[in-house]
Amino acid sequence: MIRLQQVSVSFGRGSAAVDVLKSVDLDLEAGRTLAVLGPSGAGKSTLLAIVAGLERASAGRVEIAGQDLGRLDEDGLARLRARHIGIVFQAFHLIPTLTARENVALPLELAGAVDADDRARAALEQVGLGPRLDHYPAALSGGEQQRVAFARAVVHRPSLLLADEPTGNLDRATARLISDALFGYRDETGAAVMVITHDEALARRADRVVRIEDGRLSEAAGLPAEVRP
Ligand code: ADP
Ligand code: ADP
Repeated sequence: MIRLQQVSVSFGRGSAAVDVLKSVDLDLEAGRTLAVLGPSGAGKSTLLAIVAGLERASAGRVEIAGQDLGRLDEDGLARLRARHIGIVFQAFHLIPTLTARENVALPLELAGAVDADDRARAALEQVGLGPRLDHYPAALSGGEQQRVAFARAVVHRPSLLLADEPTGNLDRATARLISDALFGYRDETGAAVMVITHDEALARRADRVVRIEDGRLSEAAGLPAEVRP
């Protein structure tokens, strides 16, 4: 589902250029879950942006769902995301003027689905938010907002689910609900899931853990010290 070969990303030019990812190789098959660890500024969010087709590699090959992203234009990347990719961010990114249901229905509506409203309701009910369909984000707790964001990320049944610190702003019990939702989605659909996290409990549940440090990716042999109890 994900295949990165010798991917490098640099921002800026000439002597001001900064190498944020350095010759990264990564494979993730369908049905597998991957946790990405590493210190702040290491390049984790950039890796996620590359995999999501939100940022372009400066060098190397990026293949997602069988497609070479280097050969896709911006419309092609948008179509790939709409069809295959869901993303959950740390800071929910819900639209404040839309209800929970409208937030979840929006990507489906933009993709021209006729049953957007029904599917949005079903996705929200699945994360236990049936009683909150018509609430605005401001009237929801952080955990509820993240469950809305999760429902929005999976409402189109992506084969690749990406998350950037999805439990970073949540208390332990709520974090567990989001973690359950991520792994439950994989179990239910066979999707590949890649999660950037500092959450030890979440990382423990992943099939595989890698670490990024200063733009380089390495296999973490078990859980590294920073997430050991
Ligand atoms: P992490 O997610 O591990 O904290 P990031 O991928 O967000 O790391 O960032 C890695 C480094 O790349 C940081 O030094 C950040 O400032 C820099 N960076 C990220 N995106 C850009 C950009 N668009 N332009 C310039 N520098 C960037
Ligand atoms: P997070 O805290 O969720 O990891 P970041 O702060 O790493 O988010 O990055 C948020 C967005 O800002 C990303 O799209 C990243 O590419 C961009 N960004 C990060 N650092 C820089 C930078 N120094 N210059 C320009 N854009 C940046």
